[in-house]
Amino acid sequence: MPSEIEVPCKHCGAVFRVRKFKSIARDKDSLSCTECGNELMSWNGGVMYLEPKLISGATKKPQ
Ligand SMILES: [Zn+2]
Repeated sequence: MPSEIEVPCKHCGAVFRVRKFKSIARDKDSLSCTECGNELMSWNGGVMYLEPKLISGATKKPQ
């Protein structure tokens, strides 16, 4: 079972729920905020995060 975590965007304040999977492959990858394009999180092997779902919209105006 994947676990779900909530990840806030530090840039615009939007909050996403993402699914965390264990990954055998050592993939380097990242997720971007769909609201402002800021990098939400990045990782390098062991896990992967998929399917970001917006649960709370942006609270800060982009600069
Ligand atoms: Zn953002």
